[in-house]
Amino acid sequence: MKKGHTPIRMCMICRQKFAKKDVTRYVFPREVDTYGGALAVDMTQTKQGRGYYICSSLECQQKFTQKSSVRRKRKGV
Ligand SMILES: [Zn+2]
Repeated sequence: MKKGHTPIRMCMICRQKFAKKDVTRYVFPREVDTYGGALAVDMTQTKQGRGYYICSSLECQQKFTQKSSVRRKRKGV
C-alpha cells in the first residue's frame, strides 16, 4: 500500500465514489443565491457556500443541471 492521502468525493447523482480530482465541485454562492441562485463551478474547490460534487459522467452533469434549474424556477418567478 502506498502512503498518501487521496481525498474521495461522492457524486451526488450516481453516488459513486471518485477521487477528488475526478469530480467537479459546484457551489451556490450565498450572495448570488439571493438573486435567484446561480450555479457556479468551483474550480479551486475552496469556495464558501453549499457545495455539490458531480462526476464527469454526462448523465450526471445533465441531471444535476436539471435539478438546479428546477430550483431556480421555484425561486425566480
Ligand atoms: Zn455521477
